[in-house]
Amino acid sequence: MELSLLTLCYLIGSLTFIIGLKMLSHPDSARKGNLVAAVGMAVAIFGTIFLYEEEGKKLGNYEWIFGGLILGTIVGVLAARKVKMTAMPEMVSLFNGMGGACAALISFIEFDHIKDAFAKGITIEIHAGTLITIFLGLIIGSVSFAGSVIAWGKLNGKIKDFAFPGQQIFNLVLLAATLVTAGYLVFNLNAENYWLFYGIAIASLIYGVLFVLPIGGADMPVVISLLNSFTGVAAACGGFLYDNQVMLTGGILVGAAGTLLTILMCKAMNRSLTNVLIGSFGGNKFSGASASQGPQGNYKEISISDAAVCMCYANKVIIVPGYGLAVAQAQHTCHELEKLLEEKGVAVTYAIHPVAGRMPGHMNVLLAEADVSYDKLQEMEQANDEFKTTDVVLILGANDVVNPAAKTDPSSPIYGMPILEVEQAKTVIVNKRSMKPGYAGIENELFFQPKTSMLFGDAKAALQKLVTEIKAL
Ligand code: NDP
Repeated sequence: MELSLLTLCYLIGSLTFIIGLKMLSHPDSARKGNLVAAVGMAVAIFGTIFLYEEEGKKLGNYEWIFGGLILGTIVGVLAARKVKMTAMPEMVSLFNGMGGACAALISFIEFDHIKDAFAKGITIEIHAGTLITIFLGLIIGSVSFAGSVIAWGKLNGKIKDFAFPGQQIFNLVLLAATLVTAGYLVFNLNAENYWLFYGIAIASLIYGVLFVLPIGGADMPVVISLLNSFTGVAAACGGFLYDNQVMLTGGILVGAAGTLLTILMCKAMNRSLTNVLIGSFGGNKFSGASASQGPQGNYKEISISDAAVCMCYANKVIIVPGYGLAVAQAQHTCHELEKLLEEKGVAVTYAIHPVAGRMPGHMNVLLAEADVSYDKLQEMEQANDEFKTTDVVLILGANDVVNPAAKTDPSSPIYGMPILEVEQAKTVIVNKRSMKPGYAGIENELFFQPKTSMLFGDAKAALQKLVTEIKAL
């Protein structure tokens, strides 16, 4: 009876994950989707705690389980409440790493039982499938954990890109050695060689660090979504080990969604996955040519009043949001500007680059928070068709995603990445605080083009002034 109730809990959990995931695909339903999946997760967790039985025995250890639950809930709630919107990608990366670490710890615990048997001299028959799952969970979980921690450091600027000569070869050898050793142990594990398990754990952690460290600025989104999928696969291994359907479904869903996102990100960046991973192993490929030399050429500035007039008398304005808009938390003021311009008969839309901001969908989330209508958001291909007939493009804290070097400079680290081709519009107004580069650390020749004008200042302050000015017109 209890077993079937538990199976029902797992079924509810699995279904809510799928429904939640589906709801997450649209900003209007995303919040509810998150809640639906969270409720399903709670059902699965409490179902396991209270209903699971092995050989007639319940789980027990309730003080540890609830101690962990309470501690985790406090940390989670505080982190979620305190985190600034701009620090969200880092937090997501760190939490993803925790998922990887959990999956690796499951392998540690399961391997411990085998080690204990060896220590007591008990002969046990271990199924090869079990060992494969233990090693996969260990390797993928450890890589995901170490890689996500490095990604966290890179996103908050604490860790810089790093590569040493021959790193590509070193990484490949390390990975091959780790996999071969794990493969060997699957068929030859004994009391003499079991310690190699810990070597595999350390090698996987080192690989995770070295695989993310050299990845250049603009390629980070691909790595982040790849790490996401790794965590999912590692969790699914745990599901296999424990014959736990909901863990398996959850892990597979995360793994599959992460893989799809990785493919989408690769497409958005015009990169093959092997290129991103192997290509970056050779070292930091930043040409640095323009990054270190400071602004090249002359740029012109535009005043708030001129920018206001320029937009007010336009037929069509496209706003390009970027990371700076999130930093300034100017999404609400941006929406106010949009409504004001529309009242004056100007058609306003937003052009969304798939890697704008610091996490997949960052701009969609940001604008949805300000109640910007989803119909107003244009994807890159669509926007690129629209720019030709656009009077004014207003760039708000975006840089790399509008950098023409991606099309014109083969030595640029972002070369080949499709960009928003804003230079096709009649006038381009760029709002940022200075001439400093964006995430990829490279100069942007767009800022020096004759049709571009710079509107310096914090995005929120600049937008507030624009709104005041337009109201007075
Ligand atoms: P960028 O990082 O290229 O540029 C952001 C710009 O915003 C900066 O040049 C900065 O200039 C400006 N800025 C910062 N604060 C403010 C502010 N308060 N007001 C106005 N402007 C401000 O951002 P993009 O969105 O164009 O590109 C995203 C980059 O991040 C890409 O390289 C992408 O690959 C990478 N990335 C994306 C991830 C994703 O999943 N989306 C994940 C990891 C990396 P200034 O300092 O002069 O103000």
